[in-house]
Amino acid sequence: MTDKHTGTCFCGAVAVEVTGAPEAMGYCHCRSCRSWSAGPVNAFTLWKPENVKVTQGAEQVARFEKNPTSGRQYCTKCGGHLMTDHPTFGLIDVYAATIPSLSFAPALHVNYAETVLPMKDGLPKLKDFPEAFGGTGETVPE
Ligand SMILES: [Zn+2]
Ligand SMILES: [Zn+2]
Repeated sequence: MTDKHTGTCFCGAVAVEVTGAPEAMGYCHCRSCRSWSAGPVNAFTLWKPENVKVTQGAEQVARFEKNPTSGRQYCTKCGGHLMTDHPTFGLIDVYAATIPSLSFAPALHVNYAETVLPMKDGLPKLKDFPEAFGGTGETVPE
């Protein structure tokens, strides 16, 4: 049986389904994530695009690109956030909060140099991004 999780936007008009397992899970502390989510940190789960499907309300989904590396998608009816497409990574961040049935198991923190919410959880704290994603891969102390 394939692992499957479904979530919706704030009003429920848009439904998103993910299948299989995420490529990575963690927390992003960057200013963009904080500003967009209106929260101190973004709990991300990264998926291959073929494992993410909008199963309902696709016509309500809008996309905002402040920069070409992040296509932020939201519901035009309620303004609720759904996911961020990272075309340069070839991955889509379906926010952990969007798919509550997924058991969130973070492995790392990224952009921790920008944190406003230090978290002492023993996980690696990357200053920016892993090297494979164009970062320095450097860690900073908790
Ligand atoms: Zn909505
Ligand atoms: Zn971020």
